[in-house]
Amino acid sequence: MFDVITVGAGLSGIVLAERLSSVSNKKILLLDRRNTIGGNCYDEKNEVNILIHKYGPHLFHTDNKAVVDYLSNFTEWEVYNHKVLAYIDGREVPIPFNFNTLYQVFPPELAKKLEQKLLAAYPYNSKVPILELKQSADEDLQFLADYIYEKIFVNYTAKQWGMKPEEIDAAVTARVPVFIGRDDRYFNDTYQMLPIRGYTEMFRNMLDHPNIKLMLNTDFKEVCELKDGKFYLFGQPFDGQVIYTGQIDELFAYRFGELPYRSVRMEFETLSRRWYQDAATVNYPNQYAFTRITEFKHIHPIDSDQTTILKEYPEPYVIGKNTPYYPVFTGENQRKYAQYKDLAAQIPNLTLVGRLAEYRYYDMDDAVANALDIFEDMKEKL
Ligand code: UDP
Repeated sequence: MFDVITVGAGLSGIVLAERLSSVSNKKILLLDRRNTIGGNCYDEKNEVNILIHKYGPHLFHTDNKAVVDYLSNFTEWEVYNHKVLAYIDGREVPIPFNFNTLYQVFPPELAKKLEQKLLAAYPYNSKVPILELKQSADEDLQFLADYIYEKIFVNYTAKQWGMKPEEIDAAVTARVPVFIGRDDRYFNDTYQMLPIRGYTEMFRNMLDHPNIKLMLNTDFKEVCELKDGKFYLFGQPFDGQVIYTGQIDELFAYRFGELPYRSVRMEFETLSRRWYQDAATVNYPNQYAFTRITEFKHIHPIDSDQTTILKEYPEPYVIGKNTPYYPVFTGENQRKYAQYKDLAAQIPNLTLVGRLAEYRYYDMDDAVANALDIFEDMKEKL
């Protein structure tokens, strides 16, 4: 009846279901335990008609034209350049920390001196991870690195991960580098835009194919079983492909222990005022238990006397209690993941895809590119 079971209707699962149904003409059973599609990219209009991202701000940005071309089959776009301010020492300043920030936080002469030193050390418009800047031998750059580390990174990272920047994979803090230039957008990618009617609408279009049977509100275990390395669907052996985008430790009943994920408690508030803040997101590295506040009207503008904001409170992921968002990138966790991956490799019709199953901090564009690559590999074998 089905050629492929896809577990999880998030970004990765949807891309694969779309390709396999429309290009390879396969019949897909797409399962999700939630009653919505899009995984953590899900967006919806709230009670005051403001388009909100239910699982936190998702801003599409990429240099990958192939990804843009692919998604453009399912949506039109509107240009959106994300901007973030950080509240430090009573001021809201642009981040990533760039030359504009430099001149806002330091007296002009000191700022100028630091600007010149940065330009002597790094190419214009380049990105320098904070942990790299901290290695600088120059005394002034050392002073600057300490300042940025203390004011922007150390407390935010403690809230977000419960760790110091040095304790987590360097790629995590490198996502928000020090920017050697004046561009104060959060990303510098060529393409920065949003699906004009939101992500969920784009996903609906992707899944609009007679070969895809979508079952929401359905836990994988309600219809499938993995026993002795073999899958069963509704009790019958299933020899087709299983694309699994959920948590890999859960699939293998936590045999090697739990893989830690970080969760976030999302608190939305709708206020009777036109605007709450000056940018889409304001980060609070050093105050409050939340990391940032996002105001959705900046992202999807609408003329309204009300506005909806979101405060994000990071917390550990606890099975059955909250939502896994981020894999926790430490050497120890990577080793545990590798054990699960080896186990998965012994099951020939199982493919792991996406942030949870691959235990990787994918951005949306990388998740799409990865799913498209996996499809190319898979279609040869089908
Ligand atoms: N980060 C920080 N201070 C900030 C912004 C980011 O320390 O003001 C660090 C923090 O460790 C965070 C990481 O950089 O987890 C990546 O931030 P990003 O905004 O990319 O996180 P996401 O939007 O994926 O949650």
